[in-house]
Amino acid sequence: MKVPLLDLKEQNDALRPEIEAALGRVLDTNGFILGSEVAELECELAGYCGVKYAIGCASGSDAILLALMALDVGPGDEVITTPYSFFATVSAITRLGATAVFVDIDPVTYNLDVGQVEARIKANTKAIEPVHLYGQCADMAALREISRRHGIPLVEDAAQAIGAEEDGVRAGAMGAIGAFSFYPSKNLGGMGDGGFMTTNDEDLAKKLLALRVHGSDVKYYHKYVGLNSRLDGFQGAVLRVKLPHLDRWTEMRRANAERYNELFTDRGLTEQIALPVERPSAKHIYNQYVIRVAGHRDELRGFLTEKGVGTDIYYPVPLHLQECFAYLGYRAGNLPEAERAARETLALPIYPELTAEQQCFIVDSIGEFFEQNR
Ligand SMILES: *Cc1c(COP(=O)(O)O)cnc(C)c1O
Repeated sequence: MKVPLLDLKEQNDALRPEIEAALGRVLDTNGFILGSEVAELECELAGYCGVKYAIGCASGSDAILLALMALDVGPGDEVITTPYSFFATVSAITRLGATAVFVDIDPVTYNLDVGQVEARIKANTKAIEPVHLYGQCADMAALREISRRHGIPLVEDAAQAIGAEEDGVRAGAMGAIGAFSFYPSKNLGGMGDGGFMTTNDEDLAKKLLALRVHGSDVKYYHKYVGLNSRLDGFQGAVLRVKLPHLDRWTEMRRANAERYNELFTDRGLTEQIALPVERPSAKHIYNQYVIRVAGHRDELRGFLTEKGVGTDIYYPVPLHLQECFAYLGYRAGNLPEAERAARETLALPIYPELTAEQQCFIVDSIGEFFEQNR
């Protein structure tokens, strides 16, 4: 049996006639850059996330960058964030000439350890950027309280968390700005690069709208030095076909996660591996189902590869130890939980169409590995 980490074929095949018709509409109307499909999508996304404004852009990486630009993050400023995320979380900060200040992660959720945030706030802290890693929100109640107390805005890196909730409020609706990605492996994936930003603040929305088109709100008059970061009409059209299915896909992912949890528990494997934990106030959307394996993670991964099971490591090198951030001055040992997670986490297939049979095979294979390596 072969089980890839992610298989988009079934999902795309089922929607193919609708997608082709939608692409045809863009061809017929020449709405290649932004255009009416993107405008409609933005309305639908705002409704989906429960915010006043959703603004498309060229990628999730740009969404974070534009969010920080809208908040005037620049040289001399600091942004507090997590070292355990995708690169773009932090490159957006450093590209603007600001300094990334890393706070270690909570070892259970892998999200920012909010208890360590306040001690790092200084006069030049311009923003706090939590990441909703794997599809579960960071502890936003605590972060919002810190944000309110110190008057420092939150930028949610919600690239992995569309539809995730905290106390019934959706990701992207809890900070000053939310940043999302349509990278094909995200829960709502396009057929190329894309992203969007969310906000409830009219002034920030106006600024984001200008920043994505070279900082111009009237053509050829430039208020800011912005980016060329627009969502394609083709992506907008595809995403509008997919969005109505997102909640159903999320429920399928959640059911798969539950099945894994039961299978691992029934097989008595919870000594060897730690399962993902959904906090009581959270709704996890399982962009990734990530287990923790102390000791032989890489051997287990090799074993699963031989069995035909796709896995990945998100992420093998924490950001404070990346070569390009060496100048920030962090060393191995500075952020021990992020470093331990980098050695121990393993993502298993969790896409909606994954079958119970495939899941049993994966769990049995993992059981077999630990039998052999007792
Ligand atoms: C995917 C991702 C991004 C970047 O999104 P792109 O669309 O690939 O640029 C940023 N942050 C996190 C946490 C991500 O998972």
